[in-house]
Amino acid sequence: MALGFLKIFKTSAPRVPDTGIFFYNTLTGRKEPFRPLKAGRVGMYHCGPTVYGYTHIGHARPYVFADLLKRMFRYHGFTLTQVINITDVGHLTGDEDQGEDKIEEGAKREGKTAAEVITFYTDDFLENLRKLNIDTEGTIFPRATEHILEQVALIRTLEEKGYTYLTADGIYFDTVLFKSYGALGNINLVGLEEGKRVPINPEKKHPTDFALWKFSKPEDKRQQEWESPWGKGFPGWHIECSAMSSKYLGHHFDIHTGGVDHIPVHHNNEIAQSEAAFGPVFAKYWLHVAHLMIDGKKISKSLGNTILLKHIEERNIPPLAYRYWLLTSHYKTQVNFTWQALEAAHRAFFKLQRVFVEELGVKKGAVSPRYQKSFITAINDDINTSQAVALLWDLLKDDSVSKADKKATLLDFDRILGLDLAESQNFMEESRKQTVSIEQAPQEIRTLVEEREKARASKDFAKADTLRDKINSAGFTLEDSPAGARLTKI
Ligand code: AMP
Ligand code: ZN
Repeated sequence: MALGFLKIFKTSAPRVPDTGIFFYNTLTGRKEPFRPLKAGRVGMYHCGPTVYGYTHIGHARPYVFADLLKRMFRYHGFTLTQVINITDVGHLTGDEDQGEDKIEEGAKREGKTAAEVITFYTDDFLENLRKLNIDTEGTIFPRATEHILEQVALIRTLEEKGYTYLTADGIYFDTVLFKSYGALGNINLVGLEEGKRVPINPEKKHPTDFALWKFSKPEDKRQQEWESPWGKGFPGWHIECSAMSSKYLGHHFDIHTGGVDHIPVHHNNEIAQSEAAFGPVFAKYWLHVAHLMIDGKKISKSLGNTILLKHIEERNIPPLAYRYWLLTSHYKTQVNFTWQALEAAHRAFFKLQRVFVEELGVKKGAVSPRYQKSFITAINDDINTSQAVALLWDLLKDDSVSKADKKATLLDFDRILGLDLAESQNFMEESRKQTVSIEQAPQEIRTLVEEREKARASKDFAKADTLRDKINSAGFTLEDSPAGARLTKI
């Protein structure tokens, strides 16, 4: 579906509205107009996942954001190169370049080879992107293990320029020699020095120095290791992003993104490596996505609060309703996921699909210039999706716009929002096919549904969840649709 639109806009001339595009740039600490390095072109690098575990709903947030950027640039007729790396070596479990390689740990945990772990979780990541209607057409997904030569070459360059030193544990980058180290996000290096964490590697010269290449230890029995000019080992985590971005986007490119957790260490290290090797400026605009919390807490294995997209689907909530929910907040706002919030978003999304299919008719009129301008102004203003979504509802309520024009305008918005509205019809038919009316359901199920309605009415959501699980075990899923509870046979 989306491909048809892309074809049209790939051939059209750039038509950035008068308002221009603005981004909040972490590098300068302010909102700035976007000026591409080359007119009509944009290069973007998004730090990708470490493929040692399932992609959870928090991981999905930065890639929905990357997709919005891509769709916005394509909408405006830019030619773009987009890179999302796959980290399949070198990311360690501990800080300070210590601990086990997450991939090796995953392989041990699951009794698999490293290659099997990498393939399995990369596929899971890509499947998540597909379900969230993230457009991967033309996106490059380079893997760190397939770019060892490029990483070694970059470390060589840094060595030749005098930025590295050798320890028993590996080759390190000397951050003191890179004068502007820590500039991204204004990292307080003095504070870091004073409150110095006890260095686990005593040979490190400064607390912020980091590994470029680590030597393999025989007792680690690593599955993934390579020969190098310095000895057998594996690359440090940060060097892959500098090496692969320069390969696919050039030494200097437009936009670099990632989660806020990457600012203090990973992204400052990428800047240090790339600018020490190739000169400034590595990436011109640095955009960071705030974290998604669950019930007010960080997502963590130890808290056991990880939620995956499949858990959302098990509740009969489509992944696109989750995408819709993400769009209702600005990417720089920390968001708190709750099932109640998602269910409310699902109701709104369902209503949007229903209105699109049943109320607006089949005729497609003309895009409303007034709404289009307001919508693009919101999106161009640092991807303000919450405002864009609010505008969508304003449009639906506006009696001065015809149904056919509303339909055309919604489809125009959807080229950027990516809610796949053109597919709403199929989507609704599919979900109706399997629906069982509550009256026709077995008595046992009807009783459970009634008890659950009572629990919800008295706000006992824990009990309501337990009852839903029981309904689920009996072969039905229950969805709180806007028209009331809906049963579907599994
Ligand atoms: P990782 O696989 O841990 O390197 O993470 C992949 C991407 O997901 C990075 O850009 C992280 O910053 C981001 N990320 C991880 N957890 C969350 C979360 N809870 N909310 C938003 N982004 C996250
Ligand atoms: Zn990175």
